[in-house]
Amino acid sequence: VDLPPREADLVARRQALLGPAYRLFYERPLHIVRGEGVWLYDADGTAYLDAYNNVASLGHCHPRVVEAVARQAGQLATHTRYLHEGVLELAERLLATLPPELGHAMFTCTGSEANDLALRLAFAATGGTGVIVTENAYHGVTMGVAALSPSLGPGVPLGAHVRTVPAPDPDKGTDATFGAAVAAAAADLARHGIRPAALILDTVFSSDGVFTHPTDTLAPAAAAIRAAGGLFIADEVQPGFGRTGEAMWGFLRHGVVPDMVSMGKPMGNGYPVAALALRPELAERFGAGARYFNTFGGNAVAAAAALAVLDTLAAEGLQAHALKVGGQFRADLSALSARDPRLGAVRGAGLFLGVEVLEPESRAPDAGMAARIVNGLREARVLISATGPHGHVLKIRPPLVFSDANAAFFLERFESVLSASR
Ligand code: PMP
Repeated sequence: VDLPPREADLVARRQALLGPAYRLFYERPLHIVRGEGVWLYDADGTAYLDAYNNVASLGHCHPRVVEAVARQAGQLATHTRYLHEGVLELAERLLATLPPELGHAMFTCTGSEANDLALRLAFAATGGTGVIVTENAYHGVTMGVAALSPSLGPGVPLGAHVRTVPAPDPDKGTDATFGAAVAAAAADLARHGIRPAALILDTVFSSDGVFTHPTDTLAPAAAAIRAAGGLFIADEVQPGFGRTGEAMWGFLRHGVVPDMVSMGKPMGNGYPVAALALRPELAERFGAGARYFNTFGGNAVAAAAALAVLDTLAAEGLQAHALKVGGQFRADLSALSARDPRLGAVRGAGLFLGVEVLEPESRAPDAGMAARIVNGLREARVLISATGPHGHVLKIRPPLVFSDANAAFFLERFESVLSASR
């Protein structure tokens, strides 16, 4: 790829310094130096419409979060072994958004750590070690959760204690059988002498290809794992904090109460802060035999960032905004899909959208075309990515402040990229 000298040099230095495990987005990687609202700016000042970022969910560098972080960083920024109001106010405010059964919050710095902690708690509470996930799940980077993240590929083998179930895809009928599949996976674990400990699900099945509907699949799955002696963990790292428009948390759309809920990414709008909410009784066995200390988890600056995020979500009505803008955007994408045989199902809720890219005759997944669209849009200064086991589902997940005008801009560029790649 022909990169300008400065960017070519950055790529070479990354390879030399960070090694081969890292992947950059896009054939021509971006060198982003500034963000504001839904826009990212490269080193030359070129603006890109960010239609992918769920970290900067309130918009990049939201002034309210920036101010809260700066103020707290100038006052106290240290480890978490002193009394401090911030973490408690955050716990109260977060727990108030969750069902009353979830009475404790524990803080971490990343979603991976939150899921890892959830696993440790589940193992301690159930005495089991068996875990059930979806076929292309991603739950994080630690040794514990990488072993239950099949989307990392064959180089990261699943643990012997892990079983997978197909994501609830209504086009394949696996939505109707989802609970039964969980029950069968739990039975298979038991048959191998492994006691089931947990079912852990991303409640929008993002890495499986975005399956937001129907919303009656989680309850039977939770019932099945509980019947087998395990716990239900909702991974809200992707759908949480109002993104689906319909609810603050993805599991609420399914009318089910998890035993634990992990969250992260948009929680600090760019500041690393994550958490696990749980039923208090689950911590009893764990807390009795072990102590938990996370140096930075729930530190004063993290708490200030997360509180500012909760304030801003409410003050700007972003969940309702995501529902409204996302609903129209999805309808417009569906209309486009109906006109273009290379596009298939358009799925999603609020501002979490997935668009299938298919080979027109066979209707088979077309990852090559999806990659051409993603890279074409990047050249047209619109940023998205692709997901799913075949990499053929366009993943459109902009900051929640995305407007109707931003959606119109997106659609115009999308159509021109599609016509240019005929
Ligand atoms: N769970 C899900 C569903 C995720 O998408 C991610 C991050 N992509 C994680 C967990 C891990 O979060 P983190 O990268 O903050 O460790």
